[in-house]
Amino acid sequence: MSGVEHGRPPHIVVLAGGVGGSRFTRGLLHHLRTEWPASGAAGSAESVPGSGTTASVTVVANTGDDLWLAGLRVCPDLDSIMYALGDAADEQRGWGRRDESERVSAELTAYGVGWPWFTLGDLDLGTHIARSSWLRDGLPLSEATRRLCARWRPGVTLIPATDDEVPTLVTVADGDAPDGTRQLHFEEWWVRHRAALPALAFTQDGVADARPAPGVLEAIADADLVLFAPSNPVVSIGTILGIPGIAEAVRRTAAPVIAVSPIIGGSVVRGMADACLHAIGVETSAVAVAEHYGARGSGPSGEVHGAGPGGGLIDGWLVDPADAAAAPRLEEAGIRPLVRPLWFHSVEETAAIAADAIALAESVTAGSVARR
Ligand code: GDP
Ligand code: CA
Repeated sequence: MSGVEHGRPPHIVVLAGGVGGSRFTRGLLHHLRTEWPASGAAGSAESVPGSGTTASVTVVANTGDDLWLAGLRVCPDLDSIMYALGDAADEQRGWGRRDESERVSAELTAYGVGWPWFTLGDLDLGTHIARSSWLRDGLPLSEATRRLCARWRPGVTLIPATDDEVPTLVTVADGDAPDGTRQLHFEEWWVRHRAALPALAFTQDGVADARPAPGVLEAIADADLVLFAPSNPVVSIGTILGIPGIAEAVRRTAAPVIAVSPIIGGSVVRGMADACLHAIGVETSAVAVAEHYGARGSGPSGEVHGAGPGGGLIDGWLVDPADAAAAPRLEEAGIRPLVRPLWFHSVEETAAIAADAIALAESVTAGSVARR
């Protein structure tokens, strides 16, 4: 039987973007360290070096935000996760490395190289130079990521969703262009324009030919539990699920699939994800995003009942008490809700949210066994 069981440390896969993904995963690891501590004694060693737990976590990270800048490969979400879990992040600022300086960026700006509004710190540049060096030697991004993580020991197996370049491009109106629109890289739209230019569409350039990075499909298929972090449903989770084969693996895994709502009380938490949801025609509400992911479940011949193009992916949905009214509608849609506070105020509170996601997974698994 697949799914989380008492008595055996679980293997958990998390689909994640940068900030929401790393905060949630840090809470999950905190919970697993308490529930499944690695003592170092025989038979209870760490599953992943630096994790402190016998349970194992694989994080599949969004790579749609990645870009070449000043000749270097920059991977914002992978690095946010690696720094946050590797205790190297600047917690005050919310991105980049702690104890950072910006001397090199000032030099680049003086030369007119790079984006002046997208500052790369000196220590962070070290990461980008190392990664770019390995990529230029012909190594795939997943291997470069493994090498970076060997230093930071995030306590999870961190895998990019794909080794192929799939930049998220945002289409916006442009009166001067022949067809009235132009496209810009997601980071330019997000950081430079603060998501204020109305987005007409999001495209993953080159996605049709992209393949999941080695280990992604296997991790999802072999997982005891798959979790969607409360990451941006469009440009973080949506981008991961857009890589051919990944959504299908999520639909087919025997593990329960549980997602945490990024929407609390009808607005996005700490972010501008509503601008993304608006562009794909999804209302900024906990129930609309859950229905966008759609209830998982296959009929007797294995066909999938999805709810729309992004649908048919989740079994359970954690919603905040502010959105408790959504619960009956979720039940009706075939998604099991669990109502509990979803603010990540502290790592302990986030750990309790992760524990409840696991509990919801256990109830979903028990239900499906009972139905058999
Ligand atoms: P990014 O790649 O850095 O933009 O981060 P992600 O895509 O991983 O996550 C961004 C999303 O995390 C935001 O749109 C928020 O809705 C969500 N988020 C951030 N903080 C919290 C929190 O405390 N609780 C919940 N439930 N969601 C949060
Ligand atoms: Ca991101």
